[in-house]
Amino acid sequence: MDRFDVAVVGLGAMGAAALYHLARQGRRVIGLDRAAPGHEGGSSHGESRIIRLAQFENPAYTPLVERAWALWDDLGRAGGEDLIWRTGMLEGGLPGTPIIEGSLRAARENGLPHEALTAAQARARFPAFDLPDDWSIVFQPQAGLVRADLAMRLHMAGARTAGAVVREGAVVQAIEPGGSAVRLVLASGEAIAAEAVIVAAGGWIGELVPELAPWLTVTRQAVCWFTPARAADTGPDRMPVFVLEDETEALYGFPDFMGTGVKAASHRLGQRLGSASDARQDAGPSDAQPIAEALARLIPGAAGPLKTLKTCLYTSTPDDEFIIDRHPADPRIILCSACSGHGFKFASAFGEALAQMTRAEGVPAPFRAFGLGRFGSLQASLPPLGEVPAKRG
Ligand SMILES: Cc1cc2nc3c(=O)[nH]c(=O)nc-3n(C[C@H](O)[C@H](O)[C@H](O)COP(=O)(O)OP(=O)(O)OC[C@H]3O[C@@H](n4cnc5c(N)ncnc54)[C@H](O)[C@@H]3O)c2cc1C
Repeated sequence: MDRFDVAVVGLGAMGAAALYHLARQGRRVIGLDRAAPGHEGGSSHGESRIIRLAQFENPAYTPLVERAWALWDDLGRAGGEDLIWRTGMLEGGLPGTPIIEGSLRAARENGLPHEALTAAQARARFPAFDLPDDWSIVFQPQAGLVRADLAMRLHMAGARTAGAVVREGAVVQAIEPGGSAVRLVLASGEAIAAEAVIVAAGGWIGELVPELAPWLTVTRQAVCWFTPARAADTGPDRMPVFVLEDETEALYGFPDFMGTGVKAASHRLGQRLGSASDARQDAGPSDAQPIAEALARLIPGAAGPLKTLKTCLYTSTPDDEFIIDRHPADPRIILCSACSGHGFKFASAFGEALAQMTRAEGVPAPFRAFGLGRFGSLQASLPPLGEVPAKRG
C-alpha cells in the first residue's frame, strides 16, 4: 500500500491550493480527484470569480481576502500572468438591502475605500448600467475578478512541479482511521495510507462524510454569457464586477474581459440536487430568461443576445459560510467545504491554512469561525465514514 504524508481528496479550487502548498513545503503528498481537475461537474470551472475586500457576508473576512489576494499575486507572478484583474465592484439595491448594508459595514469596519453613488453618478461613470434612482449604490475600488481556470492550472502545475502525485479519475469511496495512518479506499479497490487527509470534495463531501450532510445543500446554478449590446461600455476599463439585488433577482457578474461576453448569473439558490453527481451541463433557455430580463432592466449596455450557458454547483451551509475543521472523531482528517457561492476568492489562503493544519494541532485562529461546533454536536463515532453509493461512483 502506497504511503504519503498527506492525501488530498478532491482537486477543485480548495484541494488544488492545498496540494500546491503541501508539495512546495516538500511534503510527500498525493491528490486524488474523481475526474480531471478543472472539470465542469463541480464548482471551480470557468474563467472568473469575483474577489472583493469588503465582504457583505461578514466584515471579519477582509484579512482573509487580503492574504488570499497576496497569494494569488504570487502565484500569477510565478506563472507569468496576472491572476487578478482589478475592475472595482458596483453593488446596488433598495436602501436597507442586506448586500448594501453588509458591504458598507465591512468597508467602514476595515477602513476600506468605498464610495456611495447616486444612480445618475453610476450611469455617468459606468454607462452600461441603468440603475433605479431610488437605489443605494456602492462602489468599492479594491475588487475585481480572479481568473479561476488559470488559478486552477497554476496551482496544479506548481504542485506537480514540486513533486505532488496526482491521480485523476480516482474515486475515494471510504476514509478509514487506523492506528498509524488514515487509509483511503478507492472505488478500484486500491488502498492508500496517509498520515493526514484533507477532504475537499466540494458537492460530494456530504456523501464521503455523511455526518456533514444535514448541514449542506447542493444546488444547480446556471451561468450565462451575453454578447454586449454596447461593447464599448462593457470592457474591464468601463465596467466593474457587480452584485445587484431587486425584488425579483440577485444578479452578479463580470465585464467582458476575455472577449467571451458579459458573464451574469443569479446568486439565489437554484434547484436542489440529491447528489452532486446528478448535475449535468444541461442549462437551457428557461435558465437564461430571468437573468436576461434582469440584465436588460439593470445593465442594458450588456444585454445583447445570449452566447453561452453553463451549470455549476453551490454547496451551501445554513449560515452561507464555510466549513474548515478537523473531523471530531479523528483530528488527522481535515474537512473543507468552502463554497456557499463565494469561496473561490479565498482558495489560495484556505489551501495554505489546510496545509498548515496537517503539521500543527487545532485550527488556526482566523478559521475557527468555520468550525463544526456551530452546528451543535456531530456524531462522534467515525466508522463507517460513508461510502459513495456504487451507482454514483
Ligand atoms: C456559479 C458559481 C459562481 C461562483 N461565483 C463565485 C465568485 O464570484 N466568487 C467566489 O469567491 N466564489 C464563487 N463561487 C464559489 C466557488 O467557485 C467555490 O467556493 C469553489 O469553487 C469551491 O471549490 P471546492 O474545491 O470546494 O469544490 P469543487 O470545485 O467542486 O472541487 C471538489 C472536487 O472534489 C472531487 N471529488 C468529489 N468527491 C470525490 C471523491 N469521492 N473522490 C475523489 N474526488 C472527489 C470533485 O471531482 C471535484 O473536482 C461560485 C460558485 C459557482 C458554482
